[in-house]
Amino acid sequence: MEKADIGIIGGSGLYSLLDNCKDIKIDTKYGKTSDSIKIGFIGKKKVAFIPRHSIKHDIPPMNVPYLANIEALDKLGVERVIATNAVGSLNLKYKPGDFVLFDQFINMSHRNDTFFDASKVVHISSADPYCEQLRDIAYKTGKRMELKIYDKANVVIINGPRFSTKAESKFFKSIGGDVINMTQYPEVVLAREKTMCYLGIGIVTDYDAGIYKNTKPVSSQEINEIFNKSISKLRKFIFNIVNEIPEQRTCICKNSLDNAEMTK
Ligand SMILES: [Zn+2]
Repeated sequence: MEKADIGIIGGSGLYSLLDNCKDIKIDTKYGKTSDSIKIGFIGKKKVAFIPRHSIKHDIPPMNVPYLANIEALDKLGVERVIATNAVGSLNLKYKPGDFVLFDQFINMSHRNDTFFDASKVVHISSADPYCEQLRDIAYKTGKRMELKIYDKANVVIINGPRFSTKAESKFFKSIGGDVINMTQYPEVVLAREKTMCYLGIGIVTDYDAGIYKNTKPVSSQEINEIFNKSISKLRKFIFNIVNEIPEQRTCICKNSLDNAEMTK
């Protein structure tokens, strides 16, 4: 069985980062992954890449096989996951083109979000769901690269595939959301259930409907254009983060299942 140190889940434009890349397929008890997994190297680290919406981008947010993707990375021995998402801004501080590192989420989607749904009762803590060690490394790396980057952002996840109404958007802002997205959840908690570290990087593509006076509602086309402008920066950013990650994990993620099981 192949092994990898780091998993990357994100847009298909990212896999050109990998050297000596090959495709592998992993079937899990939760079905197939979004696409075949690309395995290769970034520097000395072995990296497994999964394009979340498939290479053809034909999997809508509610149909992404979140459990299969995380299960497959776990089978490969991955301990650290770096995930990227295009996000809409609910907070005027976060502008199109900026990078944000998620530190909290508010889940408004309705999806299966646990591996523990049959014979075991397990309650993991998700008080601090994103890996503090990786977030710190990413922030320092981004600053060094002079990116416009924020080390905290509360991401609201909606089910999709439609965008929010103006009223919903105002509501999400009022409950403390900074940015909004359709696919950031449940990857982060599934990774935590597998004791993996998870870093969530958001690329702000637009202001969400109704947040900014006179902002016209965004189209998928416009989001794509802004995302594509950021992709070369994002590639370099991920390359540098991967090279900065030390072998030793100093965070709480690896202990997430300690004292979490209720079943006797
Ligand atoms: Zn961690």
